[in-house]
Amino acid sequence: MKSVTIRLFVLFVIACFAAVPSGRSAAGQRLAVTVDDYAYDAAQRCDPIPKPGVEMFRDVVLSRSPEFTNMGIYSCRSVRGGTALSLHAEGRAWDMGASAADPAELAAANDLVDALLAPDSTGAPHALARKIGLQEIIWNRRIWTSGSRERGGADIASMAPYTGTNSHTDHIHFGFNRSGAWALTSWWSTMDMSGFGGQRLRLVPLRS
Ligand SMILES: [Zn+2]
Repeated sequence: MKSVTIRLFVLFVIACFAAVPSGRSAAGQRLAVTVDDYAYDAAQRCDPIPKPGVEMFRDVVLSRSPEFTNMGIYSCRSVRGGTALSLHAEGRAWDMGASAADPAELAAANDLVDALLAPDSTGAPHALARKIGLQEIIWNRRIWTSGSRERGGADIASMAPYTGTNSHTDHIHFGFNRSGAWALTSWWSTMDMSGFGGQRLRLVPLRS
């Protein structure tokens, strides 16, 4: 009787392992983490309503790093030096004031950008930027976009050179895709602050 019980137990264990998809371990199996796909939505018209995801991102950043300033969201205009409509025209971009000439502000702004472009624990690149729904970051003569041409590496040093007429040395431009702008990408369901740069994002004011 005892050996039958043992045999049944062994069959049960084998069945459990067989049910686990290949490539995964039965114990300590890591849950799949979804990082939003890269998306880029060009601006099509002037729409004076600042989008909620953009406003909330602005508020989160300024509440955690008050040394930065708010330089606005909506502006019905073309991109500087070009003819394409700016994301500001659709209320899908925020300009965050920071001076690249100030060493402390430069370091804090670089930390913020690095945190947005860093891979997550599964190695997914640009994880936080994708989860928030960012589609372009322009700062201090460098640019990252969710389009393949300027996607670059995992930190500010590997961002592509930005050669537009505005060097963006007094502010960071954060542009959002439509899902991110409407707070429909994955990050907005949790707004998990621990993923928002963690210790890499300075949490205290640089100036009293
Ligand atoms: Zn801008």
